[in-house]
Amino acid sequence: MSDYDYDLFVIGAGSGGVRAARISAAHGAKVAVAEEYRVGGTCVIRGCVPKKLLVYGAHFAEDLKDARRFGWNVPDCDFDWPTLRDNVLADVDRLNGIYQETLDNNKVETFHERATVAGPHDVKLASGRTVTAKYILIATGAWPVVPEFEGAEHSITSNEVFHLDEAPTRIVIGGGGYIANEFAGIFHEFGAHVTIVNRSDTILRGYDAQIRDRLLQISMSKGINFRFNAEFEKIEKNDDGTLCIRIKNGDPIACDVVLFATGRQPNTKGLGLENAGIELDKQGAISVDEYSKSSCDSIYAVGDVTNRVQLTPVAIREGHAFADTVFGGNPRTVDYGCIPSAVFSHPPIGAVGMTEAEARSRLGTVKIYTSDFRAMKNVLANRNERALYKMVVDAATNRVVGLHMIGPDAPEILQAAAVAVKAGLTKQDFDDTVALHPSMAEELVLLK
Ligand code: NDP
Repeated sequence: MSDYDYDLFVIGAGSGGVRAARISAAHGAKVAVAEEYRVGGTCVIRGCVPKKLLVYGAHFAEDLKDARRFGWNVPDCDFDWPTLRDNVLADVDRLNGIYQETLDNNKVETFHERATVAGPHDVKLASGRTVTAKYILIATGAWPVVPEFEGAEHSITSNEVFHLDEAPTRIVIGGGGYIANEFAGIFHEFGAHVTIVNRSDTILRGYDAQIRDRLLQISMSKGINFRFNAEFEKIEKNDDGTLCIRIKNGDPIACDVVLFATGRQPNTKGLGLENAGIELDKQGAISVDEYSKSSCDSIYAVGDVTNRVQLTPVAIREGHAFADTVFGGNPRTVDYGCIPSAVFSHPPIGAVGMTEAEARSRLGTVKIYTSDFRAMKNVLANRNERALYKMVVDAATNRVVGLHMIGPDAPEILQAAAVAVKAGLTKQDFDDTVALHPSMAEELVLLK
């Protein structure tokens, strides 16, 4: 008989928490999980999944227009936001059910309430009950950060954007990262007047400069507005519900919705972490070792709450590695090298490995190969939008150390190519592969 109620208590049923709970249970552990909102977490409930469905929905605006050039007699089409919103939210419900079923099928007990840490082995539930566990896993994710200024309460974040009553006709988006560029594309395609307001003069910091510039250029030519080096001063709400955004170094902007996408902060506040002596880093994230163990031996943390790499597949890997390490007799760590990533902007970006600037500073001599082309489909559609593929090669070894792409389906293509980069293949290996013609992906093996 164990001295504890559970072998594992997981706080937070998002991607990392659910994977850790399921695998730990499969290894024979008695597991419980507490979730204060909905099982599935940010990715499933108010992140990647509903966002991607909106991206698909938005793309029809271009597809319907292009279809005419391909011979289709397309009448003028109207877009109905409530239909898309409700269908997307229904799919979120479906996935929420599947996640819950996964937990149930693996005999993981679910508490639909908030849980906090009361000690190294103690968890306090909002209902007042305290339970004990040999190990506690914190997988509470992250939460959108909104800068503090007058009227900020009139803004929304990605938490609320999926539930809007109406699609905005004018939207201001604060921030210039993933969420800002993805929703700029989405709302622009739905017909809104979109303005991105960012504190610096850079979008998508961390991505290759040429790829970022291409997205900026395409977005501007589509009519998305950018205000750079701009700081929000005030949001005023008018009697008719519209908003006036005052910015320190520019003219005011009138709009219906202000969406903040200015980063996400680890969800550690009010979790009782001090009761177990859990150390946080400067950003308020739980500090963990390579096995995701916190400064308290019985408490681990995975996913965005640790602020290592804020991506779902990484949280899932961390949760799985934790379960194998602690309950599967197979201690293992997560390999953070060559993690592919994508921005589902219009057009989307896919990237893996080092940017040109990183490679130059880390490796010295690098060779750069690019293909700047108009996708066949865009040519026939009269869509003047060019794709850009860029390969970064270590000149000393001929190894491909980075691939960066913007263009139709770039994330789909990049995922496959990332296997080659991760495997350390050379430019010659790419060249030796026969092109698959006609495709956009063939550019990767024809780079000169
Ligand atoms: P990002 O980190 O991508 O971008 C944040 C943006 O906000 C940057 O442009 C930054 O400016 C700006 N910013 C940061 N702090 C402030 C502040 N205090 N005031 C004003 N501006 C500020 O954050 P997102 O919110 O877009 O996304 C959060 C995370 O979610 C991402 O980092 C990513 O890990 C994940 N995500 C991943 C997606 C994907 O994989 N496709 C999609 C959506 C989210 P600057 O850098 O210019 O200084």
